[in-house]
Amino acid sequence: MANQAGASSSTPLEPGFEDDENNMYGAESGWVEARTSCDHLASLSSDLARIPTPDTPCNRCQHPSENWLCLSCKDVLCSRFVNKHMLQHFHQTSHCLALSYSDLSVWCFACDSYLDARVIMQLKPVSETAYILKFGEAPPFRSVECSKGNQADGGASSDS
Ligand SMILES: [Zn+2]
Ligand SMILES: [Zn+2]
Ligand SMILES: [Zn+2]
Repeated sequence: MANQAGASSSTPLEPGFEDDENNMYGAESGWVEARTSCDHLASLSSDLARIPTPDTPCNRCQHPSENWLCLSCKDVLCSRFVNKHMLQHFHQTSHCLALSYSDLSVWCFACDSYLDARVIMQLKPVSETAYILKFGEAPPFRSVECSKGNQADGGASSDS
């Protein structure tokens, strides 16, 4: 009697997960949850339609790339992995909202957390502007009309 089922107590996990793409925004593997609200949005600059380009060097040390944009005064300053000038700027000015020109994420120093620019309406325009400056095209933003539809993401597609 060849009992096929139940013979494998240890299921082989192959390294090439097919679902890897779908999981990359899941809770696993170091993805940090972004906040969908922030109490400090009042400090956003009123004019974020024009922002410095992503290759703008740090205002203080001229570090050439992967800097942060202060969303309050539009200063471009380097990251905590370089000379911490964005962090210093926060301590000196309390400007807590910064957009990374490295990966276009938005960080709130006061919340000590990433902010979800797709959900927080005040951040969406500048996030899109930065994307266009960086990539030269409008962002896909993991489009809700994506044909995969692996999760019913209802009601998110109201046109503006
Ligand atoms: Zn905040
Ligand atoms: Zn710097
Ligand atoms: Zn600032």
